[in-house]
Amino acid sequence: MFRFAGSGMWGQLMFRWLRNLGTEILDLIYPGDLYCICCGKIIDFTRTYRLCDDCMKGMKWATGRLCDKCGKPLSKNNPMRTCYSCREHSHNFDKGYTCAEYGSHEKAIVYALKYDARTDIARTIGEIMRDRMLTEFEAEELAAEYDIICPVPVHRDRKIKRGYNQAALIAEEFAKKSGIKYTGEVMNRTHQTSVMKSMTPDERKENIRNAFELRKSCSERIRGAKILIIDDIYTTGATVDEVASVLKACGAKEVDFLSFASGADVVKID
Ligand SMILES: [Zn+2]
Ligand SMILES: [Zn+2]
Repeated sequence: MFRFAGSGMWGQLMFRWLRNLGTEILDLIYPGDLYCICCGKIIDFTRTYRLCDDCMKGMKWATGRLCDKCGKPLSKNNPMRTCYSCREHSHNFDKGYTCAEYGSHEKAIVYALKYDARTDIARTIGEIMRDRMLTEFEAEELAAEYDIICPVPVHRDRKIKRGYNQAALIAEEFAKKSGIKYTGEVMNRTHQTSVMKSMTPDERKENIRNAFELRKSCSERIRGAKILIIDDIYTTGATVDEVASVLKACGAKEVDFLSFASGADVVKID
C-alpha cells in the first residue's frame, strides 16, 4: 500500500505547531498564572505553587513517615522504616526522594504537563521539588550536593510527538532554582517501551531492560560523579533502576533520584 514517506512526522509537527500557537494565544487572553494548575479555578498571584486552596489541601504531600530507601510515604499499616515494595525488590539507586503520593490531584497536574502541552507546569514542579529537597539539605549544601542532574529520557519518537521531554523541563527548572548547573540530558532512550501501567514489577523490569544508553559526549563527566535522576512519577522503580544501573556501569559514584509523585505503599496480597 502506498504511504507518503514521513507524512506522519510532518503531520505531527504541524499539529504541534498549531497546538503551541493556540496555547500561546490563550495565555495572552487568560494568563496561566491566574488559574489553578490542578483544577483550573481562578486564583490570584499570591497562591503557593499556583494551586487553589482546595487543591492545596487535596495534595498528598510527603510530610509524614517516608521509606528510608525510595522516599515514598509509608502506609499507616506499615510499621517498618521501608515500604513494602523496597522490602521485596532491591534497587540500583542509592536514595530516593518524592514530593507527594500519586493521588488524583498529583495525577491531574502531571497529566496537564504531559498531555495538554502545559509546559509552564514544569516551572511549578521544579519549585516544589526544590522546596522538598530544602527539607533535607541547607540551600548551599543542596547547590553543591550533585554533580549532574539526569532527567529520565523519553524516546525520540515520543519527544517529536509531544514536543518535549517533561522530565527534562522539570530537571532544568529544579536545577535553576536550586543553584545546580544543568548541562542538558545525559542519556538516550534507545527503544520505545510499552505502557507499563498494568504490568507487574517483574514485567516492568523486563520491558525497560536495555532501554537506555549514556550519550557519548557525557562519558567523561559521569566518572566518579554524584548524580540525581529526575522524573515526574515513581511507581515500582523499574525505570529509575535501569537508568541508575547504566550510570553506575559508566562509573557514577552515587545515584539518587527525585520524583514529583510516588505510587502508594501497598501490601501485595497473593
Ligand atoms: Zn484547584
Ligand atoms: Zn521504598
